[in-house]
Amino acid sequence: MMANREPAVDRAFLKELTRVVGPDRVLTKLESRYAYGLDATYHQAAPDVVVRVRKADEVSRVLRLCHREGVPVTPRGAGTSFSGGPIPLAGGVSLALQGMNRVLEFSPGDSLAVVEPGVVTGDLQRLVEAEGWYYPPDPQSADFCTIGGNIAENASGPHGVKYGSTRDYLLGLEVVLPDGEVITVGGRTIKNVTGFDLTRLFCSSEGMLGVVTKATVKLIPRPESKVVLLAFFKDWAQGGRAVADIFAAGILPTTLEIMDDVSIRTVEEYGHFGLRLDAGAMLLIEVDGFIETMDRQGRAVSAICEKAGAMEVRVAHDPARQAELWKARKVLSPATSRLAPTRVSEDVTVPRSRLPELVVRLKEVGKEVGLPIIVFGHAGDGNLHPGILTDERDPDKWARAERAVELCFKHTIELGGTLSGEHGVGFMKSPFLPLEYGERAIRLMKDLKGAVDPKGILNPGKMFPDPRNPLRAGGPAAGAAVGQPGPAGGERHGP
Ligand SMILES: Cc1cc2nc3c(=O)[nH]c(=O)nc-3n(C[C@H](O)[C@H](O)[C@H](O)COP(=O)(O)OP(=O)(O)OC[C@H]3O[C@@H](n4cnc5c(N)ncnc54)[C@H](O)[C@@H]3O)c2cc1C
Repeated sequence: MMANREPAVDRAFLKELTRVVGPDRVLTKLESRYAYGLDATYHQAAPDVVVRVRKADEVSRVLRLCHREGVPVTPRGAGTSFSGGPIPLAGGVSLALQGMNRVLEFSPGDSLAVVEPGVVTGDLQRLVEAEGWYYPPDPQSADFCTIGGNIAENASGPHGVKYGSTRDYLLGLEVVLPDGEVITVGGRTIKNVTGFDLTRLFCSSEGMLGVVTKATVKLIPRPESKVVLLAFFKDWAQGGRAVADIFAAGILPTTLEIMDDVSIRTVEEYGHFGLRLDAGAMLLIEVDGFIETMDRQGRAVSAICEKAGAMEVRVAHDPARQAELWKARKVLSPATSRLAPTRVSEDVTVPRSRLPELVVRLKEVGKEVGLPIIVFGHAGDGNLHPGILTDERDPDKWARAERAVELCFKHTIELGGTLSGEHGVGFMKSPFLPLEYGERAIRLMKDLKGAVDPKGILNPGKMFPDPRNPLRAGGPAAGAAVGQPGPAGGERHGP
């Protein structure tokens, strides 16, 4: 949090903002601003003013004004980030984009949709699925996060193993640059190799290079059918072997999730799903495709799991039974939030073949710092969500959680991995950026930022190590998305 910060705006500035969007969409009361200072990390830094925009032209005029006055601007979608991205560390304007929520075009002929950034991801998915089409990026927050936030974070979910992440579905963007100029990058074609790939540059740029005001996204035909399997193994080594063997057999699953023994036990106590309590690892596998191939693929995956040592494999072809098998994975976050007052959740990713080694090292980290670490995640794409069980009210346990986070990153990088597979850097992981990138690469990123935003007004304090980062001032563990029991006793976030 920015202690004793001077407001970054004055009356004259607020008056000009009001001229752009009208008084009803400029919020200055603390009780209104407060909510715009939060995201799913539980950190807080209220903006000086919130501007709710509805059109690209308004975004452009707001940015032009902020650029002229040197006022910081933080773009904001639904505020579900796990990395602190929409938290306005330097105050100034919170640019609320949720009101730009129209689907402007749905074109089956060109297999694309054109959307505004505030469209809720799940709404777009439902709309196109009703017509036999599919927009695959599936963050677990799809029912409330926005396409703009997904683009800025390059979000993905359990289906990422087969279908990739948001960037794989971006054809073109309309972007407002920090000085208010509007540009378009990419286009409507499946192929486009003209010039630098600026579409991909803006994707993952965490709201630091420009504000996305329109996106053209690629759609694919909705898969006709799927089969879901739940396989129980004695230990993680057997589960890991099954994962490798499935891919080695040329099968590309839609989803391949893994849970460790503690996760299995905790979920079973929570929901009584009939899971095997003698299992040390469980795989949830989904394969999709044509109806005619489902039986064959189900049998093939089942045989591979058994050969790897599975003690039991359950196979579901019917949708109701499939939903039942998925339930154990879906309640994982609320169930495990009961294990400790605080669960520090990570999103490290390694090449798939290094997964078993990472798990062993993570468990060793738990022993070394004296805190339990539960492990689950998207085994198919090497993206794990280790949960460090601790108590943020206890300074000693916090210090140990911070140490565990650091070690967890160190081991991930040693194994050829990355700090974040889904959630982005923001200010939660920015102190650790030098672990993954050399000085020259970080300088290049800073040069790019400086070229686009020389005054540094767009989302300051993020991505790079920065003195404005509140984490070194006694806040919760750097690098950590902090899970706490929500009002209903469940985890309020989770992968
Ligand atoms: C319960 C829960 C489950 C989650 N599961 C997943 C998951 O499975 N996979 C995953 O990837 N993430 C997950 N997340 C994290 C989060 O939902 C994603 O990062 C999501 O993409 C954020 O979208 P948002 O609309 O909430 O954006 P915000 O949180 O509002 O903003 C995120 C970043 O995007 C920038 N931004 C927002 N809109 C724009 C725009 N139009 N132009 C430029 N920059 C913009 C902001 O400045 C900020 O840096 C989860 C979060 C929760 C709470």
